[in-house]
Amino acid sequence: MDSASPRFDVAVVGAGAAGLGLALALAREGIATALVGRHAPVADGRTVALLDGSVRFLGALGAWADVAPHAAPLAELHIVDDTGSLFRPPPARFVATEIGLDAFGWNVESARLVESLRAQARSVPGLTLFESDAVGLERDADEARIGLEEGTVSARLVVGADGARSRMRDQAGIATKDWSYPQAAITTLLAHERPHRDVSTEFHTRQGPFTLVPLPGGHRSSLVWVTGAGAARRLADLPDADLACAIEGQAQSMLGAIRIDGPRGLVPMRGLSVASPVGARVALIGEAAHAFPPIGAQGLNLGLRDAAALRDSVLAAISDGRDPGSRHALSGFARSRSLDARLRTVAVDTLNRSLLTSLLPVDALRGLGLLAMTTIGPLRRIVMREGVLPRLGAPSLMR
Ligand SMILES: Cc1cc2nc3c(=O)[nH]c(=O)nc-3n(C[C@H](O)[C@H](O)[C@H](O)COP(=O)(O)OP(=O)(O)OC[C@H]3O[C@@H](n4cnc5c(N)ncnc54)[C@H](O)[C@@H]3O)c2cc1C
Repeated sequence: MDSASPRFDVAVVGAGAAGLGLALALAREGIATALVGRHAPVADGRTVALLDGSVRFLGALGAWADVAPHAAPLAELHIVDDTGSLFRPPPARFVATEIGLDAFGWNVESARLVESLRAQARSVPGLTLFESDAVGLERDADEARIGLEEGTVSARLVVGADGARSRMRDQAGIATKDWSYPQAAITTLLAHERPHRDVSTEFHTRQGPFTLVPLPGGHRSSLVWVTGAGAARRLADLPDADLACAIEGQAQSMLGAIRIDGPRGLVPMRGLSVASPVGARVALIGEAAHAFPPIGAQGLNLGLRDAAALRDSVLAAISDGRDPGSRHALSGFARSRSLDARLRTVAVDTLNRSLLTSLLPVDALRGLGLLAMTTIGPLRRIVMREGVLPRLGAPSLMR
């Protein structure tokens, strides 16, 4: 690779929400930052529910003002056990004001979020954008070099924010464990007759969760329908009117008549974890480091926590005159992010698998867990707070 490549403190590879968030967070602190990646937001009806800590982070980056008009608050979360189990608990209701928040978070189209972050990235001084894929990675004792389609970029730390199929992760030789589920998710946007009243509702079915999440305006919502892979393909092939009818049936007509009002997506359900989110001069954030099914709005919120935590780690190293890409400087980041990712992955995996089995003891445990959360106030509040933002080790821009 070219030895005369431009040099940065940090080069972030991947311009999805996690990579853009980190690049903005670093550049705003005056850290020489490169962002390598094409602007390629995918409009597939996918939205992200950004929980309170993520909204604070985007606010600190100056990006929230542009996103907020397109986001709807999630004031209440309802969970309905629709498995037909013998141990079916009554519907559970979680209210944000019970933990002192107006909303658990805000729901926005994923493509819109990436668009806003990219616009912000174009205007922040100290952030250099390379509209290219990264094709290679070389490292030595002092720096890492990323090969672009044309030329190279050097940095003391390379961040792989290049998604679940991360090339940076593979080139850094970081071991992964990946697995699949016999499910896929249909995503789309809906217009509906009755107002959602800022309530997100998750129906737990035997094939997976079916979730309706509010969008702005009161009569629009996004859908994430996780179901068997074959059934999902069949639903995806339906004309709009028939798909809307199927959705209305599954939603027990809760929102009245439904119309498809946006693009659609079909996402196979997979899981991925890494042995460690760091390697020599490399750190991984977002789906490059962890992936799991969309249950409880955890994926990108975890990815943004990675970004905010790595920003703290780089700042601390640079202000102490240490090398931000050294193993020593990255050790705290690795420890805290591994724990957070492991806890979320296990929780989502366990809940998802418990829906897929019809074993009575498993049904009983799931039913009792939900019942306990509904009836025991202190437990419910702990679960709500931890779901929004883990208390221990929250990154500084999320506090
Ligand atoms: C149906 C569904 C619903 C979801 N709902 C929520 C939710 O409500 N809340 C939530 O928090 N999470 C949710 N998630 C998870 C969330 O969508 C993901 O965690 C998030 O989009 C991942 O962002 P990322 O930036 O890590 O990766 P990505 O969005 O995959 O971005 C990676 C980027 O890297 C680029 N790239 C890849 N290779 C290279 C390369 N070699 N060089 C340069 N660039 C490269 C890609 O083009 C892409 O732009 C949901 C997921 C699904 C499937």
